[in-house]
Amino acid sequence: MQIAKEMDLYTKLNILTDAAKYDVACTSSGVDRKGSGKGMGNCTAAGICHSFSADGRCIALLKILFTNECIFDCKYCMNRSSNDVPRTSFTPDEVCTLTMEFYRRNYIEGLFLSSGILKNPGYTMELLYQTLYKLRHEHHFEGYIHVKAIPGAPQELITRTGFLADRMSVNLELPTADSLRKLAPHKTRKKILAPMRQVQLQTQENKHELMLFRNAPQFVPAGQSTQMIIGATPENDYQILSVAESLYQKFDLKRVFYSAFVPVNEDAMLPALPGGPPLLREHRLYQADWLLRFYGFQTQELLSEKRPNFNVFLDPKCDWALSHLEHFPVEINRADYYTLLRVPGIGPKSARRILYARKSGSLDFPDLKKAGVVLKRAVYFITCSGRQMYPLRIEEDTILRNLLQSRGPAPSETLTYRQLSLFDDDQIFGSIPDKLLQAGA
Ligand code: SF4
Repeated sequence: MQIAKEMDLYTKLNILTDAAKYDVACTSSGVDRKGSGKGMGNCTAAGICHSFSADGRCIALLKILFTNECIFDCKYCMNRSSNDVPRTSFTPDEVCTLTMEFYRRNYIEGLFLSSGILKNPGYTMELLYQTLYKLRHEHHFEGYIHVKAIPGAPQELITRTGFLADRMSVNLELPTADSLRKLAPHKTRKKILAPMRQVQLQTQENKHELMLFRNAPQFVPAGQSTQMIIGATPENDYQILSVAESLYQKFDLKRVFYSAFVPVNEDAMLPALPGGPPLLREHRLYQADWLLRFYGFQTQELLSEKRPNFNVFLDPKCDWALSHLEHFPVEINRADYYTLLRVPGIGPKSARRILYARKSGSLDFPDLKKAGVVLKRAVYFITCSGRQMYPLRIEEDTILRNLLQSRGPAPSETLTYRQLSLFDDDQIFGSIPDKLLQAGA
């Protein structure tokens, strides 16, 4: 293990942003939390604090590991203890300096802080807590902070950290306890779920406190999230989505993130993946996850043990509609909100607009376009006042052929894997004083 004690801040930043890049559980939050006006920053739900790259990953957070030193040896991780990679750690003051300086320069809207396990979980969590404490109380930073809760750390430390953060996450890593045993032998499902439960219960308690005392401190106001690695182990989409659904239901998770497995280590326990990371699978899981959270679907409706994986060619909602043609066509001028949501090409926003517009009279196809309906998909599944837009046969083969013809290139042809990097942009580092990058706090 290469541990460089004397390392300038720029080099540390280079190592520890790179080391953090495979953790995708960092998109934020929708939290609306005003600053006090005395400190720096605030958190606004609508886009100011958060911005997203085209593939849905968050780009406006400083995303770093506190340390890439780790006592654990998860097979899939570049920071595992058995890898010979340059190792370094920030100090809490260094993380504060970087966050404040980047925030002042408008490069970031907040901080995503994860970490390897240094010495033991409690020691690591204490360092994360100290960092957040300094940011909030010494630097008066009121911007968005997402921090990891380290499984195995004392509950009280996780609670104290949660009162300083906007979001916490504990990564489930792999969908089943069996896979965890094989690829992350130092972790157990029980240890991972314990802090998740703790954050859930503390959040509920905090909600009651806030109802009684409006100025009570907020605990993890943006909720908690987790991440699962897709394709490192043999679970199918049905198993993965069922796990996600159960996490939403049992632990009140705000988001489950799916991270296509990127092979960074050579290990007989890991799959070879000659076709590269399973990005299309990741994409389909995100689409299905959206259907669970916002469209009223259940996993059982989308997949089953007999049909355990998503269709490569169609998004999960089109796929569902095609295999349930008995529910169509849907009459736009009569259908309720949840029926409208099941139509391909109609989302929550357009469904709400349809309901609103219907108060003023019957809608026709041009009105649907104005409401944001994607007609090239919806047209096969709807009528307006009993009339189809074109005379079409509601029949699986015909619709499938037309849908495939009308779409752009298949997602697998357009998706590529590239982690955004602070170091791609010379302008950022060109404008940071050398003394900050070399000396640190
Ligand atoms: S705990 Fe496992 S996944 Fe996390 S940094 Fe250490 S080796 Fe990597």
